[in-house]
Amino acid sequence: MSLDATIASNLAIVRASMERAARASGRDPADIRLIAVSKTFSLEHVLSAFRAGQRDFGENRVQEALQKIAHTADTPISWHLVGHLQSNKAAKAAASFACIHSVDDEELLRKLEISALEAGRSTELLVQVDLGREATKHGVDLERAASLFEMGRQHRSARIVGLMVLPPFADDPEDARPFFRRLRELRDELRASGVDATMLRELSMGMSHDYPVAIEEGATMVRIGTAIFGERTRR
Ligand SMILES: *Cc1c(COP(=O)(O)O)cnc(C)c1O
Repeated sequence: MSLDATIASNLAIVRASMERAARASGRDPADIRLIAVSKTFSLEHVLSAFRAGQRDFGENRVQEALQKIAHTADTPISWHLVGHLQSNKAAKAAASFACIHSVDDEELLRKLEISALEAGRSTELLVQVDLGREATKHGVDLERAASLFEMGRQHRSARIVGLMVLPPFADDPEDARPFFRRLRELRDELRASGVDATMLRELSMGMSHDYPVAIEEGATMVRIGTAIFGERTRR
């Protein structure tokens, strides 16, 4: 099969199973966005998925993403940064990504707002929460999440629109369910404590092996690489 045919077929399978999971939990499939995570894959892979109708793509490294972003500048692709972001790359990230899923630091949040303002861009941000406490290196605890939301209230260009979680890897997707559920509950708690609904619109959770479970628990964005592009050979 050609790359186009393989990726189109994988995308169709993923979209169908997203729809199934949404309907099974009484949700509207239109409320869940598929982010195709193209890290380590070539521009050709991105363009194949684009031709199959995919519009949201995710990368985990700024440098690698910038090349793909430059080569797709004439397309309506929205780029998402799903990997850790160091604050010294905040300016580049704010000028290049439609959405940054990995905000976990006050200094980073502040720099993103300043950079987005300067670049004349509006950038959406998600606060990455660490609910695992041991396995994951990045993300904030609940207290700091609340403080980031407080800080982000004043932002006009880099606006917080939700939460992201990356649970510790487990073979059984059911092991991720408590993390997904906890993220949804945290959204509800922040809401109840007075955080504006516009800042809590998105829940970014679920990857290739566990996205149906994440959708059952309320995901509005799923980040899927392997199931679309195949196994990664690098990293
Ligand atoms: C790589 C990555 C994904 C996609 O993982 P797959 O298992 O290939 O679907 C999702 N989220 C983040 C943060 C990633 O780094």
